Amino acid sequence: MKILISQTTVITVNDNFEILTDADVVVEGQNIVYVGPTKEWQEKFTTIIDGRGKLVAPGFVNSHSHAAMSLLRSYADDVPLMYWLEKRIWPMEARLKREDVYWGTMLALAEMIKGGTTTFADMYFFMDQVAEAVEEAGIRAVLCRGMVGVGAEADAALEESEQFVKHWQGRGDGRISTMLGPHAPYTCPPDYLKKVLALQEKLNVPLHIHLSETIDEVKTIRSQYGVTPVQLLNNLGFFTRPVLAAHCVHLTDEDMEIMCENNVHVAHNPGSNLKLGSGIAPLPELVDKGITVGLGTDGAASNNNLDMLEEMRLAALLHKGVNLDPTAITAQQALTMATRMGAKAVFLEDVGAITPGQKADLIVINLQRPHLVPQHDLVAHLVYAAQPSDIELVMVNGKILCENGKLTTLDEEKILFQAQQRAELLLKEEEN
Ligand SMILES: [Zn+2]
Repeated sequence: MKILISQTTVITVNDNFEILTDADVVVEGQNIVYVGPTKEWQEKFTTIIDGRGKLVAPGFVNSHSHAAMSLLRSYADDVPLMYWLEKRIWPMEARLKREDVYWGTMLALAEMIKGGTTTFADMYFFMDQVAEAVEEAGIRAVLCRGMVGVGAEADAALEESEQFVKHWQGRGDGRISTMLGPHAPYTCPPDYLKKVLALQEKLNVPLHIHLSETIDEVKTIRSQYGVTPVQLLNNLGFFTRPVLAAHCVHLTDEDMEIMCENNVHVAHNPGSNLKLGSGIAPLPELVDKGITVGLGTDGAASNNNLDMLEEMRLAALLHKGVNLDPTAITAQQALTMATRMGAKAVFLEDVGAITPGQKADLIVINLQRPHLVPQHDLVAHLVYAAQPSDIELVMVNGKILCENGKLTTLDEEKILFQAQQRAELLLKEEEN
């Protein structure tokens, strides 16, 4: 397979953040092999895509999600977080079956691919079904089984995590990588986290955890252990391992120093943090300290979509507003977090930029739209004005997953039908 995208404009997100016009992009097999001035190509291509009037950019990396929660979209809204979790989400999740997780994930993948997401980092349960969906869909994913360290399933979750990592790491032509996912400091006591660290040492995969999401979490941990959640993990040696920490909304200066010194990666989820009333993460400070930050949607039950364009826009707008500073987070910074830095945040080095040698994970956007004309600044367009429906083509690992806005690997109609049916059945079970 050799694909040419010709005479196009490219936001490379390379070291110099170059934007190329009248450029060609060539993909061979899984990789980008050429990005540069338009040429008279003598060789034969399997597919030629006319890139005139279009924009090529790296696909988005959703650095924190619970894909299958798409089945719970709009099931519980506008209620306090602990009520949301304890009375609505957890009881419903307890009823989810393998097939529910599979179809909930498929629903999420259909939405994510159409919206230009080419990699997502996920934490949930029945992860074999999530990985199967990923394998079928052709998307890239960094997956972990969420582990809760209290209750009957605590040890089984460790065992399942080990099996999951051993079975799935590197599968799907290398598109699937794995992590260990202790849910959070308030659901995983220190003794349990020590077991997780022992397993991490054995398997040598990164850790993915929710951290300092709410004021209540910080209060609870402080009252139990006398330190902040970040300090608690640091004292346990957690940060001597590669860690992706989701949320990090409520941090002290000392917390940020610890995270910076230990190169803790952060998944910033502005939509979810706003919707659950969790607060606003100190993103400009994290960025100033040089901390690696990706953007995430979190689950669709707390967002309520999986739209990375929206997450970029929120990240760029929110911090301007709360800091009374229009330079707080720029469009370029938001786009970098959604692509190249997001890839680094989830421990992938070979995606996130349009440069030779990178995996061919990219999107093609139609610029011939009223809200994208004139084209003074394409990065600003992408962050402040573009919509998922502007995305015409999505490629992962050199394979086209969405063309002219239509999914090529998934049966969208069937997915929507199954998801609706499954959601209705779950509600009926709840009533009984
Ligand atoms: Zn989450």
